[in-house]
Amino acid sequence: MTTLAQRLARPEIRDLPPFQLAERGAADDVQLDANENPFPPLVDGPLARDLNRYPDPRPESLRARMAALYGVPTDRLLLTRGGDDAIDILVRAFCRPGEDAVLVRPPTFGAYAHFARMSGARVIERPLGQDFRFDVESTVAVAREDSAVKLVFVCSPNNPTGTLTPAADIRALAEAMSDTLVLVDEAYVEFADGESVAPLAGEIPNLLVLRTLSKAYGLASARVGCLIGDPEVLEMAGRTLPPYPLPGPSIAAAELALSASRRPVVEARIELLKTERRRVAERLSASPWLTSVQEGGGNFLLLETNAPEALAVRLRERGVRARFRPQVSPGAVRLSIGSPEENDLALAAFGVETPDRPARRAELSRDTRETRIAVAVDLDAPAPRRVRTGVGFYDHMLDQIAAHAGISLILACEGDLETDPHHTVEDSALALGAALKAALGDRKGIGRYGFVTPMDDAEAAISLDLSARPFCRFEGEFATDRLGDYPTALTPHVFRSLADSLGAAIHVRVTGDDDHHKTEACFKAFGRALRQAVRIEGGEVPSTKGVL
Ligand SMILES: *Cc1c(COP(=O)(O)O)cnc(C)c1O
Repeated sequence: MTTLAQRLARPEIRDLPPFQLAERGAADDVQLDANENPFPPLVDGPLARDLNRYPDPRPESLRARMAALYGVPTDRLLLTRGGDDAIDILVRAFCRPGEDAVLVRPPTFGAYAHFARMSGARVIERPLGQDFRFDVESTVAVAREDSAVKLVFVCSPNNPTGTLTPAADIRALAEAMSDTLVLVDEAYVEFADGESVAPLAGEIPNLLVLRTLSKAYGLASARVGCLIGDPEVLEMAGRTLPPYPLPGPSIAAAELALSASRRPVVEARIELLKTERRRVAERLSASPWLTSVQEGGGNFLLLETNAPEALAVRLRERGVRARFRPQVSPGAVRLSIGSPEENDLALAAFGVETPDRPARRAELSRDTRETRIAVAVDLDAPAPRRVRTGVGFYDHMLDQIAAHAGISLILACEGDLETDPHHTVEDSALALGAALKAALGDRKGIGRYGFVTPMDDAEAAISLDLSARPFCRFEGEFATDRLGDYPTALTPHVFRSLADSLGAAIHVRVTGDDDHHKTEACFKAFGRALRQAVRIEGGEVPSTKGVL
């Protein structure tokens, strides 16, 4: 009995002997077996490490991370150089030139037909219906009619229409043609409100799923994607990969992007892009240039205009680039969702004015040998709030700052907690201060000062001046060493770190009986003081000097 992979593979690929690679030794071995240059290039930064050495041909830890991300077993995932490569290797491994065919349903992603033609496979194109829904019945009928069809492409959400194909339809499609490979391209699924079908891939042997870090994870330049499916089918497809498919810096960048310190900020960005998609779609419905706006499930909108030439000129004049898609319809335009500020410029180009909004957001990362931190703040939004440092009590304290300041705060830290919470606590405070500073920008219009005095047996008085000049005075004693996993002695350090990196004078005075109350009162009071200090009260820099 031959397996599906053996039955469907091109004979040349099926019989291809594996490529012989130099074995990897220990890191401190004298590496004279791969004709590498011993001198690293003159390029700085952590991603440039080991650029003179060949990369890991099968980066297992990245593979495991991506498998966990997509909720599939590791042996069902093959790393590829971006999603494009996943399409290319499938065609090359399974479609015999001049004999086999692929089936695509336009308008859809152009790469399917492109790679198929490049490999000498025939391309059967059956346009989607009026509503751009992917219809299972008619697709199965075409494949049944023509026994040369080896591979069917389903893009969900579809580029450029945004249409999502329901999981039940995908299952029905794959089950109806069990000797044909079905590739579901989920390059945009993170932005959709539906579920990924990745867990079904391999479960149903002829069903494959493509995922990529290019879109949702912002790594387009790194070229990291994957195929998910039956291990034997993946092994066959993987034979067509070059010996070292992924560059070392790409592997490192992907690992970092998927690490615990980065995930919360990355997830919040995806949420922001979805919120922006909704906002831009609503606003664009008032555009005098457009006759329709289709939202869909990607990080883009499909628009329709009666005047494509004039609109193209107008967008070009304003320096806004959108993709005209005459293959879809004469007036079709695909508009990607950018940052809120970019979207406002795009809206203006489409003739929709938006009120001036403060853009007091900042995101930053801060990595040392002891901690890895990513933080995002928005001074003009009360949500989301998510703090994960690994020190439970401290998470609660930082959350108190954000809640009482009425700001959005996302902060995640991977620290050397096995040593001590010290680095985690202090570095997180430094990162938070730096993010607040960046979000404040030129400090125009802010209240600048803030004061407060609250809470139970404890009383914390904080005065705060967002003066851009760091100073910290902390008066108060704690009787106990620890509150859970949090050392009480670190509280003065936190405020010093905040003062330093935020550029503020912070005076703290705390009295009372209970250390928990006293500590919490400090953080709450700081949040309250911050709320007043960052509030926009006018348009001027609040200093007689005119600068802060
Ligand atoms: C962008 C895109 C891809 C692949 O992108 P890579 O950068 O190669 O990972 C795949 N499919 C669709 C529909 C896309 O739009």
